Amino acid sequence: MGSPCRLAPAAWLLATFTVPCAAVTAQDLRIEHVAVVSSERTQPLRDATVSIHDGRIAAISHDRAAPRSRSTLSDVQVLNGTGLYLTPGLIDSHVHLGAIPGMTSEQEKLHPDIARAAWEQIPRSYLYFGFTTLIDLIATPDALARWRNHDLLPDTYFCGGAALIDGYPMIYAPKPARYEAMPYMLVEPGAQSSLPAGVAAAEHTPDAVVARMKADGAICVKTFFERGFGAQRNLPVPRLETIRALVRAAHAAGLPVLLHASSVEAQTFGLDAGVDIIAHGLWNWNETSATTELTAAVTALLDRVVAARVGWQPTIQVLYGERDLFSTSFLSDPMLARVLPAGLMDWYRSKEGQWFRDSLASRFPHTSTADANALEAAVQADYAVGIGRVERATGYLAKRRARLLFATDTPSGPIYANPPGLNGWLEMHKLIDAGVTPSQIFRAATLTNAQALHLDIDIGTVEVGKRANLLLLREDPTRTIQAYAQIAKVILHGRAIDPGELAADRAH
Ligand SMILES: [Zn+2]
Repeated sequence: MGSPCRLAPAAWLLATFTVPCAAVTAQDLRIEHVAVVSSERTQPLRDATVSIHDGRIAAISHDRAAPRSRSTLSDVQVLNGTGLYLTPGLIDSHVHLGAIPGMTSEQEKLHPDIARAAWEQIPRSYLYFGFTTLIDLIATPDALARWRNHDLLPDTYFCGGAALIDGYPMIYAPKPARYEAMPYMLVEPGAQSSLPAGVAAAEHTPDAVVARMKADGAICVKTFFERGFGAQRNLPVPRLETIRALVRAAHAAGLPVLLHASSVEAQTFGLDAGVDIIAHGLWNWNETSATTELTAAVTALLDRVVAARVGWQPTIQVLYGERDLFSTSFLSDPMLARVLPAGLMDWYRSKEGQWFRDSLASRFPHTSTADANALEAAVQADYAVGIGRVERATGYLAKRRARLLFATDTPSGPIYANPPGLNGWLEMHKLIDAGVTPSQIFRAATLTNAQALHLDIDIGTVEVGKRANLLLLREDPTRTIQAYAQIAKVILHGRAIDPGELAADRAH
């Protein structure tokens, strides 16, 4: 900050020929004859010229006589955008970046070479599929330190995880490590007598945890309403007044609040508490029958979601990811080689790499775990109910123009079947199947996500002054998600990258 390069765009346009700009890290870039597709426009701006300076969009014109003089005076890379579409880079507003998908920290230590290659590749895999901004929903500066230690990675933000002490998801971590891993956990009044050593209730009020995470650089608050699943179905959940106080504290600090909620009870709680974003689709309907037809209670809840304009992240791939752990063909998908190093894929196929699948297999006691095909069929049948429900709910909301946010929850657990980057591409297909249009997906992954996370001053559209996190696509993404199948260029802070350089199976 403070260098001439950080002046408002209009100011530096005037100043650029006389003021040396020491902070320039990227070469200037100009994209000519391109169609700009951006959600604030009703239609593409055709035959446009977009100039990028110091990592930001400096000018957009569709005048053929646009000034060209800068190219002769400075070192400008020119891209011919004829037949191409320039769009904002994609935002995934629900990821977890602190671990290699499917690998525990103990397993990482046993396989340092596999782990090193994975850490090197994962940021590139998100970029490969067009994701230039990621929001880690449960992190701390320490938890993200290893992720940030890369030269090439998407812009990364995080929420602080305000989980109820010893509730979901803390319950899955051993004591006392769980208390250190979740520094923004909530302690409710009356719980003082049972607190573990070293935990002071006064530091875990809604006001205290919001202040702490804000000071640590969080841009959002994530909290949870989850009674559990599998063997754990009676976890403690927060009181409504606790989350209302959390929302008040967060809003006073300018932070949006996201609630983990996948059931009718939990999403109703979120609406009652006034959260900004519901961080999952609706697949637990608290129904005794296995119906996937929208019930009156579900419809009433979804109508409240629409009316309240609350952000809603379908995260359909959560269910497919768990299901696909039991697929006998998933690890043979040729797309995986684009995003996962070969060594990591080999490890996933090993007995050790199947540890989480094997632990989930006990949920299907009537199927022999030795018969992979029978187990796959049983799991498919089991997940069909939740998948059918979240698809119906998502389609209902899409039809009513609810505030859908593009979000994958990559990875939703220690699972390899939510592969970084590719998982977003898979989620898009699931959204299409559910009845969401390509245009809605585009807006959800760009402007709506940026607005929901209060990032729209910097990203989310192709406008002068915004960060040059952009994509050059071969098709119009408001018409087809195939536009993301073969991205022509990923532009990160004004640096144009050939996706071939980002792929895991690139020639080194
Ligand atoms: Zn998550």
